Amino acid sequence: MKYLEGFRNPAAARTIRRTLDAKAALIDVESPGKTVHVMEVCGTHTMAIARHGIRDILPPNVDLISGPGCPVCVTDMGYIDAAIDLARRGVTVVTFGDMLHVPGSESVLSECRAEGGRVEVCYSPTRALELAREQPEQEIVFLAIGFETTICPVISLVDHAIREGLTNLSLLTAFKLVPPALTALLADEDIRIDAFLCPAHVSAIIGADAYWPFAGPGGVPCVVAGFEPLDILMALQNILEQVLDDEARVENQYSRVVKPEGNLKAQAMIGKYLTPVDAHWRGLGTVPLSGLGLKPEFSAYDTELKLGITVSPGESPEGCLCGDVIKGKTKPPDCPLFGTGCTPENPIGPCMVSSEGSCSAYYKYSRL
Ligand code: SF4
Repeated sequence: MKYLEGFRNPAAARTIRRTLDAKAALIDVESPGKTVHVMEVCGTHTMAIARHGIRDILPPNVDLISGPGCPVCVTDMGYIDAAIDLARRGVTVVTFGDMLHVPGSESVLSECRAEGGRVEVCYSPTRALELAREQPEQEIVFLAIGFETTICPVISLVDHAIREGLTNLSLLTAFKLVPPALTALLADEDIRIDAFLCPAHVSAIIGADAYWPFAGPGGVPCVVAGFEPLDILMALQNILEQVLDDEARVENQYSRVVKPEGNLKAQAMIGKYLTPVDAHWRGLGTVPLSGLGLKPEFSAYDTELKLGITVSPGESPEGCLCGDVIKGKTKPPDCPLFGTGCTPENPIGPCMVSSEGSCSAYYKYSRL
């Protein structure tokens, strides 16, 4: 309990923890031997859970498993290969820093850059716009990955390019949608999921009501949580209450940010430029209509169509269990390479590279 002194409100944390213990004990009385498997579907939750040691203070019959919530981790290797190919062909590839060290089949973007490939790291997608303005003769490609949260700032590049008449900027799209991934996870009989700790940022866009298809009779409790440790503990308390009630409801513990209907402006902007497409996820494979691609009328800004390239699904690095880690089938320390052959300094898979990857979270905060 002394550990909880580090929380913003230690008294509240102690109270919630006692409640969690009591509810977990009741579950054990009602269903001896039952473990409640809760999947957190957000890389930032994964990091917060690891950073605050939340796994260590949970009752033994509550298991937190990490899901496919890290956008870099779920991006397929074939996408990295395509980006490297473009940079080697003289196209300027603009990307967030996390992608720089994700291994492709033969190389990584950082290596490609060191060899003279045109790879530009940015903190904001607007850097791609600046480059397109400054270098009108140069083809600029932005690596457009991410979940619902990051789509709007990226898609606004197309909006600006159209208004400014820029024709040298395009997006290599690999946007992903969370709800179809949840459907795929629940359909996989090898994965035990009793509840979802739903993401905060994504839910701010899609709204808490987006999780109702996964709740109700035959469904699982879905609770939207913020990123403070108390937010997460309260969401877990809510999940245990639902398990005891034998109900599966959608609850919004992050109502200070997330509305039931989400952000309608952002949804309208996404709907204006993008359309659902089948998408390939590392670990999950091809999930129907789980991604977003540019609508045909914006094909001039679609890198694949404009530059005639195809992104094909790639193979995971040998020995790397990222695919299983992303699905919650394997925990990072169970990977034989964890902390030995694979470290943040020498990563084998994206889950160790990304600042939101499960392997990186376990390595940083739980390894010892
Ligand atoms: Fe892949 Fe490394 Fe994680 Fe193993 S520890 S699953 S090799 S990223």
